[in-house]
Amino acid sequence: MDWKYLTSYFEEVIHVKKEFKGHLDVNLGLEVDFIEGFEKETTEFLNEYGALLDDSILSVHFLKIDANYLCLDYSPDVFKQAGDLLGSFEAVYRKYFETVLSSIQANLGKYKPKRIGHITLARKFHKKHPVSADYTTEISNILMEIRNKGYELDYNGAGCVKPLCKEPYPYNEVINEAIKLGIPLVYGSDAHQASALLSGFESLTHRELLKKPLLLRD
Ligand SMILES: [Zn+2]
Repeated sequence: MDWKYLTSYFEEVIHVKKEFKGHLDVNLGLEVDFIEGFEKETTEFLNEYGALLDDSILSVHFLKIDANYLCLDYSPDVFKQAGDLLGSFEAVYRKYFETVLSSIQANLGKYKPKRIGHITLARKFHKKHPVSADYTTEISNILMEIRNKGYELDYNGAGCVKPLCKEPYPYNEVINEAIKLGIPLVYGSDAHQASALLSGFESLTHRELLKKPLLLRD
């Protein structure tokens, strides 16, 4: 989100909350980026705006590779660029999972989001750029850390409708593991527009566990 839209976004949602009060629960929320090397700025942002938020998610989109930041979910070409810089697609996955783990461990102040977004976003283009490793250890470490911190997991349907992904973030084996660990799952459509609300919802397993609100992003 561009800075210039932040205030009007807050104002608009606060207006809608008032308008539907008693009829519909509307939460003011943000998906907050965890960007390696910008922890201080992110904490300052949360200290300034966190008290206004009803709901928030902490997600990784950018990978810090040497002095560059690459948005790994931007396109298959940018994902390939990350692979070229790191030496392999396997290394891109490893870097993604490492950054997600850092996001869970990071101290971002008292308004740090308690829900971790799309932890397997590295698989967004896996049908075009497949990998051979399965990353069981990395994912287990992430889940254990989420459980130890008492956080929640974003159970995100958007990947189901992405042509090169066709699976939720995270995919079913990870969801089963999360359920075993007692980690709360919160459905997210990752909708960037109203028409994408409920994205992938019908493809998700364990829908009965999902009670929390839908999220419209950006
Ligand atoms: Zn995201």
